[in-house]
Amino acid sequence: MRKLLRVNLSSGQIKEESIPKRIADAYVGGRGFGTKYVYDEVAPGIDPLNPENKLIFGTGSLAGTSAQSLSKWMVVTKSPLTGTYTRSYGGGDFGAWLKWAGFELVIIEGKAAKPVYIHVKDGKYEIRDAGAIWGKTTGQCQTHLKKEHGAKAQTVCIGPAAEKLVLYAGIFSGHRAAARGGIGTVMASKNLKAVVVEANRSETLANPEEFKRLVQQQVKRYKETMDGMSFQTFRDYGTVMGVEYPGRGCGSFPVRNFRMGEMGGLEKLSFLQYAAITQKHVGCYACMLKCGKIRKLSSGPYAGVTSEGPQYETVWAFTGPTECTNLEATVYADHLCYELGIDTISTGNCIGFAYELFEKGILTTKDTDGLILTYGDHEPMLKLIEKIGNREGLGDILAEGVKRAAERIGKGSEEYAMHVKGQEMPGYEPRALKALGMNYALSNVGANHSFGYASQEIGNPHPRLVDAAADDDKGDIIKYNHDNVAAFELANCCHFPAMHLEFVDLELMGKMLEAALGVSKFGNAEYLMCVGEKVYNLERCFNVREGFSRKDDILPKRMYTEPLKGGLRNGEVIRKPDTIIDEYYDARGWDRNGIPTAATLTRLGLQEVDKDIAKFRN
Ligand code: SF4
Repeated sequence: MRKLLRVNLSSGQIKEESIPKRIADAYVGGRGFGTKYVYDEVAPGIDPLNPENKLIFGTGSLAGTSAQSLSKWMVVTKSPLTGTYTRSYGGGDFGAWLKWAGFELVIIEGKAAKPVYIHVKDGKYEIRDAGAIWGKTTGQCQTHLKKEHGAKAQTVCIGPAAEKLVLYAGIFSGHRAAARGGIGTVMASKNLKAVVVEANRSETLANPEEFKRLVQQQVKRYKETMDGMSFQTFRDYGTVMGVEYPGRGCGSFPVRNFRMGEMGGLEKLSFLQYAAITQKHVGCYACMLKCGKIRKLSSGPYAGVTSEGPQYETVWAFTGPTECTNLEATVYADHLCYELGIDTISTGNCIGFAYELFEKGILTTKDTDGLILTYGDHEPMLKLIEKIGNREGLGDILAEGVKRAAERIGKGSEEYAMHVKGQEMPGYEPRALKALGMNYALSNVGANHSFGYASQEIGNPHPRLVDAAADDDKGDIIKYNHDNVAAFELANCCHFPAMHLEFVDLELMGKMLEAALGVSKFGNAEYLMCVGEKVYNLERCFNVREGFSRKDDILPKRMYTEPLKGGLRNGEVIRKPDTIIDEYYDARGWDRNGIPTAATLTRLGLQEVDKDIAKFRN
């Protein structure tokens, strides 16, 4: 029987529940479970920071087994940044420990009267006083909890920025984060500082022999690529390899708040430079790829700073938006964001927004406490990170995200706020990679590269290649990518081996699910794709209930009107967004307002939600 733990922080009640078989079979697990429960239990219209919102932690059904790259944890909730459904994934060991403790979901309800943390051990659950750790950084908090519960205990926690309700605060485990969408802010709104799990390795498999055979097949597949560029290079250098590719290739490295597609000096941020300060390769539970890199600065103004990263997105966030090329500053910025507990993508994007407003005279030194925001100067960038995390001065405004910050600043600053549905855009330029860019516009969680990364634009022929610069013929691929990601996330499969490197496919993941759970239909990749599509539509229905529709499937105006500067795609704009949106809606079976039709909901087995959204149709 697959189980969840329900914790009501208002009443202090904690109870185990079985996940009903009808839900288990129809939603498979992972994001499927998270989406089903958040749709059913979070009523439309509530404030995401109200106790009525729920915070759902989930792990995959294969977590804690020897299956590779399948032990990540996720959080699903209503986002305070976007007001939409959101989900965010984290790595490390917590997912495995949660599964060993016996749960695929932990649903957090209500709000504690004072700061608390949850402790799970040996079938016992406690809500404990967090007075000693409230206000501590993520590093200090985890060190304290390790002392309290032992080095093997696994923790997820928030930092001081979440406690100050910075709207893009994340949840951290070790140095890994599930950081997008303000999920840490929701956790703080519940007065919940941490969840600690103590558990011993355990594995219950329906067909252990078959499972072992499949894992051996998977490991062989990873190893067979070792001669190629993917496995060994990814393992050696991690995602920072991406810094040089888009910057030097197609002009997709966003610079100066998404005005330019390339910048000089990227050789200073080469993966070889990062390799020179890498001390150790680390990974999530049961993942041979070990893409995490422990990096230490041994000289310069930040000497002694250690960080597990920065990853590609963080390197971009603290270089492209401000046109800085100081490698040490990227490591220090990553360290600051980790300790404060904030999302690096949103933080870097907000700072890039401030730099442009300063350049245009909309912000002056009176607004910045004397900071002079000059492109190429990383010092004010680092100070702004601290100001955001502590909600000081301009940081208090930027802590709201670019959409709300622009509303507060006024003076036409909305033009320069680079977001979709309130979530800041990641480090890939939409005008250079148009299927990836329009994925931002159409995604259920606002701008997000990991929700539908379009690898078909950079050479992946599956299911077909896509011309990144073409103005149309992309809707079906965006739909495919959205559904494909959702299908892999039914088992919390990591994106890198699945979507980027194709070490794991749905056939193999499905066979593993079948061998682990004994449910034969999970072994059918087509079934998993159908469930992925269903989950995607249920998320869309969550958003439709909140009033979202076609009007919100929109990129910043700059993407349509300002030609991109630099790189192979110099001069590009997104010329026909409505054509791509229509293609996407048609492929999905949604009406012209972006609402799933009754026929589509019936086809997907979601007819029961038709009553919730029928009134929003044209
Ligand atoms: S590839 Fe990296 S992020 Fe993904 S599971 Fe492995 S170590 Fe974790």
